[in-house]
Amino acid sequence: MSIKINENYKNLKESYLFSEIGKRVRDYAAAHPDASIIRLGIGDVTLPLSPCVIKAMHAAVDEMGSAATFRGYAPEYGYDFIRKAVSSYYSSFGVSVSEDEVFVSDGAKSDVGNITDIFGDNTVVIPDPVYPVYMDSNIMNGRRIKFINATEENGFLPMPDLLDGESAVIYLCSPNNPTGAAYSHDQLKLWVDYANKSGSVIIFDSAYEAYISDDTPHSIFAVEGARTCAIEICSLSKSAGFTGTRCAWTIIPRELTAGGVSLAHLWERRQATKFNGVPYIIQRAAEAALSERGRRECAAMVAYYMENAAMIADVLKDKGIWFTGGKNSPYIWLRCPGGMDSWTFFDHLLDKFRIVGTPGAGFGKMGEGYFRLTAFGNKDATAEAVRRLREGL
Ligand code: PLP
Repeated sequence: MSIKINENYKNLKESYLFSEIGKRVRDYAAAHPDASIIRLGIGDVTLPLSPCVIKAMHAAVDEMGSAATFRGYAPEYGYDFIRKAVSSYYSSFGVSVSEDEVFVSDGAKSDVGNITDIFGDNTVVIPDPVYPVYMDSNIMNGRRIKFINATEENGFLPMPDLLDGESAVIYLCSPNNPTGAAYSHDQLKLWVDYANKSGSVIIFDSAYEAYISDDTPHSIFAVEGARTCAIEICSLSKSAGFTGTRCAWTIIPRELTAGGVSLAHLWERRQATKFNGVPYIIQRAAEAALSERGRRECAAMVAYYMENAAMIADVLKDKGIWFTGGKNSPYIWLRCPGGMDSWTFFDHLLDKFRIVGTPGAGFGKMGEGYFRLTAFGNKDATAEAVRRLREGL
């Protein structure tokens, strides 16, 4: 006899994507030791933290070293100063979110995974392809998952007409990882109306909102009616380079209820029980990133990456290759040329151009035949990759 495990874990598929990419690149590098390989596959940022963030962290470190200003456990939902900073950040794009609706955490990945705790046995709707954490965290809880297909025909932006009106927990990611596609205000309004009518809750992942440069909504709460049907999860990882620093937030409006129970209250209970807050030093860093100066400095980082995206987009346009993203997103999602499948194109790109990307098939079955390139690399390396593609693609 032994203890019982959570059997749902047996339903998880091994994630071979990044280990398989790593293995193929290592094998190629071993066989071609002189090849200069350019990585356009990573979803991680490469620029350092901005100067005002570093300054705030140094100051906070000094505070921690003095008895008069030392801090112990942080409040579970975030210090008042950071909840206020997030609320005023939302005001900067015209969205009103009160401080007590902001729950600060150590990452959007944690919140995406943990939010499943407050929901019961609902149908869960997940677009395919998409960020894999939505699916795996729901498989771990034994939830029924209904996939909605993101395709070239719907611009990789599936809409509620694919659903049957049953209430569900619906995951939307806009701008999207991996496709870079972003929902317009009108499209989000259709989702919000559908969710309110069907008694569904939308989990809106806006981790890439800082890359939006037109009138695409930065937040689902820019859409009328969202406060009664949506939870938003956002992060400083991609906007301020916090992938290794770790700070994010979840917003749950006070109006959002299910069966008469406040979801914000459930999340408060969950976080207070299982989470002990983000370190003071990191919250001060996040506050600086959200300050006016921080926003300017972060906007410069985003602009740097978006110049990379524009270079990649240009060469694909010139070569007549279909893609989404690259606009309002650091990701470019292209159709593999010549009808190649994702992994064949991966090998081709590596072998012929010494460029590493990410096969679309790794993000869901609808990703087969597509490929993700990212703008998070170094500018010179990206320019060199583009030069190679221009010559030979
Ligand atoms: N959501 C999406 C769509 C992502 O692509 C990522 C990271 O790549 C995350 C969330 C995770 O963000 P964090 O670094 O805040 O955990």
